[in-house]
Amino acid sequence: EQRAALASSSGPGATSDGHKVPLLANVGGPADVPAAVEAGAEGVGLFRTEFLFLDDSERAPSEEKQVAVYRQVLEAFPEGRVVVRVLDAGADKPLDFLTPADEPNPALGVRGLRSLLDHPDVLRTQLTALSKAAEGLPVYLEVMAPMVADRIDAKAFADACREAGLNAKFGAMVEIPSAALRARSILQEVEFLSLGTNDLAQYTFAADRQVGAVSRWQDPWQPALLDLVAMAAESAAAEGKSCGVCGEAAADPLLACVLTGLGVTSLSMGAASIPYVRATLAKYSLAQCERAAAAARAADTAEQARAAAQGVLSGE
Ligand code: PEP
Ligand code: MG
Repeated sequence: EQRAALASSSGPGATSDGHKVPLLANVGGPADVPAAVEAGAEGVGLFRTEFLFLDDSERAPSEEKQVAVYRQVLEAFPEGRVVVRVLDAGADKPLDFLTPADEPNPALGVRGLRSLLDHPDVLRTQLTALSKAAEGLPVYLEVMAPMVADRIDAKAFADACREAGLNAKFGAMVEIPSAALRARSILQEVEFLSLGTNDLAQYTFAADRQVGAVSRWQDPWQPALLDLVAMAAESAAAEGKSCGVCGEAAADPLLACVLTGLGVTSLSMGAASIPYVRATLAKYSLAQCERAAAAARAADTAEQARAAAQGVLSGE
């Protein structure tokens, strides 16, 4: 039955009653694009630009090199959306020229947007390269910053985008609980939100994502995490803006239905998961997804949340 459902899985992501939820791909560079196209991704929801910076730990790649790589990804999705995340260095993705060597808690230190604001030349080059790469292409370019904590961060990023003359929507990732709690204030500065549930779980549960001993808190079914997702999605809806998910949570077909029920407007995941998420989402109505989301949030543990959502969706 699952194979039949998958074989018929194509076209845009939507619930059974036609509520659209664009299904986008997470990519690390041009090498990941063929699989994303093959899976029918409606665009890219997270282009992790870190990989481009890994070749040389002493300096950033030249503007020309960046333009060439960005253009290859942008060209693959004519008329589609491509959401590029500016460099997220530090913590689990250290870079010698950006990441302080002596931090006792790198995940709580200078990483993501914080390191770019300390190195405005690196941010400027990246934004200029993105701007040039998108020139003349029919793509909808969106650029977002990782590790936005508050409105001051969001404004600093939006200012940098404007100064670089970037013709794109700019957004903020919600990866820190403060950003979910004050999403409406952040949305005064940016045009969209994208939930990075991997880091949001890490910071919500004070559980390092690289430490196996605390991995139970990386489970995205945790009701506290679902509460923060709901808060961000409701804030975006109130501001008439979009709020996607680009963390691992989006790749779990059942959880994708729950996220939809919480008000998330797009889902981005590794290409391999797209057909499964598309097929599962197509089985349930938006109202069913909303009931599953409410049941999951009413639970006390991740395991109970998953069982409650499953119960609602299988009609128990
Ligand atoms: C996340 O934190 O959920 C995310 C999408 O970004 P990364 O996993 O690259 O930190
Ligand atoms: Mg992250």
